[in-house]
Amino acid sequence: MQDYVVRSTAAGGLIRAMAARTTLLVDEVRRRHHTYPTATAALGRALTAAAIMSVDLGENHTITIRVLGDGPLGGIVAVAEAGGRVRGYVQEPATHLPPRPDGKLDVGAAVGKGTLTIAKDLGLKEPYTGTVPLVSGEIAEDLTSYFYISEQIPSVVSLGVLVDVDNSARAAGGYFLQLMPGAGNQLVDLLERNVQEMPAVSSLVDQGREPEEILEMVLSGTGVKLYQRFPVSFTCTCTRERLERALISLGKDELESILVEQGEAELSCHFCSQVYHFGEKDLRRLLSQVKR
Ligand SMILES: [Zn+2]
Repeated sequence: MQDYVVRSTAAGGLIRAMAARTTLLVDEVRRRHHTYPTATAALGRALTAAAIMSVDLGENHTITIRVLGDGPLGGIVAVAEAGGRVRGYVQEPATHLPPRPDGKLDVGAAVGKGTLTIAKDLGLKEPYTGTVPLVSGEIAEDLTSYFYISEQIPSVVSLGVLVDVDNSARAAGGYFLQLMPGAGNQLVDLLERNVQEMPAVSSLVDQGREPEEILEMVLSGTGVKLYQRFPVSFTCTCTRERLERALISLGKDELESILVEQGEAELSCHFCSQVYHFGEKDLRRLLSQVKR
């Protein structure tokens, strides 16, 4: 049951639509970062959005979603590269709040008030960056607002993560609908009705519905076409060399004091929690590479 995103169009090209199943991705990240349920849901929604957006990326392109709130969760970072390679983390993985009255995990309260930023590195000189204030901290609504304000694309975003009793991610997925210029009120009304009748996307995934079926449901009556599948998975891009460069960039004084006081350094990757150990010899070699 590999995770994937399906991309399609409907209403003769007036609607672009994508849907994803991301259960394995979200659970892999949950295990690596030991996230508690509310943190798993928040990070999982951001990872799912990044996975969906990865299908529009060319080779060497990267998209980064940053949610910075004043709630107990701190920041969320989700990164996707071409080929469906997705990674991410939350600042405070041990965040869990009482559920909302409707039984859903209270992601909005965990995130709080703040901003959502999307940076697209498309291989140009500067990455394209847009920032919007958070609407609710529930991630999907915040992304809808981002697309509308920053990219002038009216859209529907639905993201969901179902956390099991053993705290694993039991089902995760989502869908994006984007209206192209020329979409009339009738189409908007139809979509609104469809969206209102949709069960939660995480329960659809949990019932074993494929992303194609989810799109067929939400786009019912619009003539869905052109299914294209893109596999997505957790992939970290960290290397020992990259962390060596990070150590070198600390500068001579800082590196020397680590060498004298600790005699070694242990760094862990934010994205995958892999620990890299640097012994005395390594630190001396890096010190010799610091520009004086
Ligand atoms: Zn890593």
